[in-house]
Amino acid sequence: MKEVREMICISCPLGCRLTIEKDGDNLKVSGNLCKRGEKYGIEEFTAPKRLVTSIVPVKDGKIRMVSVKTSDTIPKELIFPTLEILKTTIVEAPVKIGDVIVKNVLDTGIDIIATKSVNKI
Ligand code: SF4
Repeated sequence: MKEVREMICISCPLGCRLTIEKDGDNLKVSGNLCKRGEKYGIEEFTAPKRLVTSIVPVKDGKIRMVSVKTSDTIPKELIFPTLEILKTTIVEAPVKIGDVIVKNVLDTGIDIIATKSVNKI
């Protein structure tokens, strides 16, 4: 049976409207202006992934929290388990932008990295 889904490609600001058609094992993407849209459509249809952003507390920091994100997209079903780990994570100042806050989160090969620098008090 044929399955059809529509979605917006979020790989660039153009936001192409994609149509993904699944017929048996075949996936066909249309509406994309470039190859990235095809990749996005297939991935979103078969195994959607997202970047995760959050904040974690900083001990002895000039500000109390530091913003963090995953170094790459992770499977959508791992978003909440990742946020659970971040709920119990505390870092110590100083923190530099790009510092690894959690290495290889949930054995994904993806790190949680700081997106801001925080100096020590
Ligand atoms: S298909 Fe290509 S051009 Fe269109 S939104 Fe996606 S990345 Fe941008």
